[in-house]
Amino acid sequence: MKISKVEAFQIRWLLDERPSQGSAWVRVDCEDGLSGFGEVSPMQGGLASLGIIARNLAPMLIGQDPLDHAVLQDRMLHQFAKLGPEGALTGALAAIDIALWDLKGKILGQPIYKLLGGAWRTALPFYASIGGNGERSLDEVLRVVEARLKDQPAAVKIRFDNDRTKADADIAGDIAKARAVRRLVGDGFPLAFDANNGYSIGGAIRVGRALEELGYWWFEEPVQHYHIKAMGEVARRLDITVSAGEQTYTLAGLADLIEAGVRMVQPDIVKMGGVTGLMRCAAVAQAHGVELVPHQTQPIIGHTANLHLAASLLHMTKPCEWNDPSSRQHAVVDNPPKPVDGLFHLSSEPGLGLRINQAELARRRIPIE
Ligand code: CA
Repeated sequence: MKISKVEAFQIRWLLDERPSQGSAWVRVDCEDGLSGFGEVSPMQGGLASLGIIARNLAPMLIGQDPLDHAVLQDRMLHQFAKLGPEGALTGALAAIDIALWDLKGKILGQPIYKLLGGAWRTALPFYASIGGNGERSLDEVLRVVEARLKDQPAAVKIRFDNDRTKADADIAGDIAKARAVRRLVGDGFPLAFDANNGYSIGGAIRVGRALEELGYWWFEEPVQHYHIKAMGEVARRLDITVSAGEQTYTLAGLADLIEAGVRMVQPDIVKMGGVTGLMRCAAVAQAHGVELVPHQTQPIIGHTANLHLAASLLHMTKPCEWNDPSSRQHAVVDNPPKPVDGLFHLSSEPGLGLRINQAELARRRIPIE
């Protein structure tokens, strides 16, 4: 069993869409005709990672055994470390790893969650992750949250995607929106607040105290991600659970966050290590008694890979993230993940369990040479 071909490509979901708004996928083929699909974070079209896959990783993978995915990942990480071990390279490795797990499942005729040692659950609750609330008026925030409640999420997270160069820009306004959303959903409904790195330590403490009073479940990335000590200080001073880690790309980085005081970590399967990397993160989190709640916002491959991983976690303390939904990617998959009565159901088909419509994919593909 040998890898015969590795293709990196962007996907234009709408035919008039700019490539920077599409997705970044990879396909790995084996000599016997099986193929696996993976995905990398689509920031700036995922071009940095796709370029590394096409130029550096693909030549190294040809002729290798796909079942050696963990050895291959560590070999490539160390060989190409200077290409960007805090982002572009680890994203590329994540995409390859997901594709190799998809292939492994197809080779062995098993879904990924079985190969991870089995599922504690194959029906998974989700939380509605709602972006763009910094720019919205208070009324607009309420309308958007209201619309998402019809999907029956187990929780709602409101994200404040503000300009990161302007810390503490509208603390009073942010708190007012958090309070209005609490009033809208009622006291018992689980809510989370994602600051997207928008505050200083002092600003974060002020917002965090308000969220505690409003009964929010967790407070995500209150300060800049690279200020690990500051993240830890906020986490230690507040009673509300402070989470971080979606911009962490190494196991050592994850350990640093935990050491600083963060008690809920959120590595992302398309940014660090893929399935193999997230399993390692789960072990680190479990060893420290810290919650692992993966970040994940890509609707097809990233989401499905994350569901397999979440299914296998002993302690799934929070629901899985489900980003602002869009059906524009559904055309390329005959069985796209969609929630039913508030739950995503994992398929028992081999690998990721996604049936790719090759003709539709070909229409939207933009190959990376
Ligand atoms: Ca976030």
